[in-house]
Order: sequence, then C-alpha cells, then structure tokens
Amino acid sequence: MTIGICGAGTMGRGIAVAALLAGNTVVLFDISADACSAAEKYIAAQLEKAVEKKKLSAEELEKAKTRISSGTSFGILAPCHLVIEAIAEIAEIKHRLFAEIEKVVATDAIIATNTSSISIASLASPLQHPERFCGLHFFNPAHIMKLVEVVKGPKSAAQVITFCVDFAKHLGKTPVVAKDVPGFIVNRVARNFYNEPQRIVMEGAAQIPQVDRLIRALGFKMGPFELMDLIGVDVNLDVTKSQWEQFFYEPRFAPSMLQQSYVDAGLHGKKTGGGFTGNE
Ligand code: NAD
Repeated sequence: MTIGICGAGTMGRGIAVAALLAGNTVVLFDISADACSAAEKYIAAQLEKAVEKKKLSAEELEKAKTRISSGTSFGILAPCHLVIEAIAEIAEIKHRLFAEIEKVVATDAIIATNTSSISIASLASPLQHPERFCGLHFFNPAHIMKLVEVVKGPKSAAQVITFCVDFAKHLGKTPVVAKDVPGFIVNRVARNFYNEPQRIVMEGAAQIPQVDRLIRALGFKMGPFELMDLIGVDVNLDVTKSQWEQFFYEPRFAPSMLQQSYVDAGLHGKKTGGGFTGNE
C-alpha cells in the first residue's frame, strides 16, 4: 500500500518508520524541504537500528530505503491509498491542507488525522467527503509505541474505521476505537499529568527536576517535564489550549504560563535541543 504522510516532524517520521517496517511505500510531504531531508536521515537511521536489532534483514533494509520518498509538492500524494496528516495542531492549518489533499488523491482514498485533541467533527467539516475521514492517533515515538486511537467522527463511515483498525494492526499496533470527545482517551486522562506539576512549580513548591524525580520514583518511565520535552513543549501546549477551549475554559484544564514562557523563548524540547530539562 502507498501511505502518504503530511508533516515530516516528530510524529510523521515515526509513523513513516512504522509503515516502512510493515512493507508499505511511504510518501512524505512537508512545507519545509529541510524537514523532509532531516526526516529521511532520521528514518534511514531508525531502519538501520532495526537491522541491528534483527527486526529487519540487510536485504529488507535496502528495499525499504527505495520505498520512501519526500517532497514539498502536493502532487506527490496522488498515488496514496491512505494519507495521514501529522502537521501543526492548529485547525485552520489542517483545514487548508485537507482541501489540497482532496484535490490530488483518488475519490476512494482515506484521509486520517494524527491530531491529539482537535475534534474530528470540526476537522472534517470543510471536507468534500467527510465520510472518508477519521482520527488515527499514534503516540510518540510512533514506531515504538503500540497504542493507536482510531477516532470516529460523526460522519466517518464504518468501513473507514474498520480499514484504520486493520491498518493499525498491520503495523503491529494495538488499535482502540475512541469517541470524538476532547482529548479522546489518552490526552483526556493525561492532561493533568502535565498541568498539575506545572502548577506545583509555579507555586514554588518544588523545582522541575524534583517533580520529575518524584514521579519517576512512583514508577513512571518519565517525569512530566521530560515527557513534554519529548513530545514538543509547543505541540503539548497547543493540545492543552485546544482541550481547554473544548471544555469551555474549565479552570482545571487551564494551560500554564510556565509552558507559554518556554514556548515563547523557543525552548520547545528535544527537537530544539532545549526545554524544561537541562535549562532550569
Ligand atoms: P512537529 O512540530 O514535530 O512537526 C510538524 C511538521 O509539520 C513540521 O515538519 C512542519 O514543517 C510541518 N508542517 C507545518 N505546517 C504544514 C503544512 N501546512 N503542510 C505540510 N507540513 C506542514 O509536530 P509533531 O509533534 O510531529 O505533531 C504533529 C501532529 O501530531 C500534531 O497534530 C500533534 O498534536 C500530533 N501528535 C503529536 C505527538 C507528539 O508527541 N509530538 C503525539 C501524538 C500526536
């Protein structure tokens, strides 16, 4: 199958690796040529790691390398059976992209969004064919994390949901069908894992490394600040803002000025080389 991925950032790269490892052809689209070439390098390195771990043979590696291409022109998405959008978490930007995707793909191609928090109903609203659209929400790093939320919007066709569930299984993932509610399942549950520690730090009750250390001591693999750095401090803030808005600005979902200041300073976490950890 030919899979189009829009957005060659943190998530697009990981989804591309997962799709290639499962034997698919991947077409990666981004507005930035630099993002495309950085993603191709990252993907090649991950495939080589898969060989080291004996998940892929040397011969399969060479074949996989021929099945990935990237570019900045919408036309490259034309042969795709499924296009997965993983660009900025801003509805208007995604709407503009979907309009362009619909112009180039076949009428029976499926379009899915990796959105973490924006409602599928609202993202589907300007589509000519909203029935072919749903959420396909991977977790970071997408080639490693097993869980995938398949989110059914009010107009998503049943066969589109079945297709995406089967596709996630084909990638070796564990799909769960989620309702189109703010944050779906995981981000609804996890939001206060990020918000509450920031309140603690803003109140001066503890420092960032202390909070991470204490949370790790409870058995979590990563503290909330380390995790926000992995996710992208900017992307995580956009998700919090979107969810807060969808809960009609309920105070317990309010974003933190601490996170806003890190975003304003360009400290977006691992992808920028600086974030909450290592800068305190
Ligand atoms: P990112 O900032 O790492 O990458 C986004 C990429 O999209 C960049 O390369 C950028 O150049 C590109 N882009 C921006 N506008 C574009 C456009 N109009 N057309 C094509 N490309 C465009 O972001 P990310 O962390 O990969 O997040 C992408 C999506 O995945 C968001 O919706 C986010 O909520 C979701 N998501 C993120 C995570 C995470 O942990 N980072 C987890 C699950 C879901």
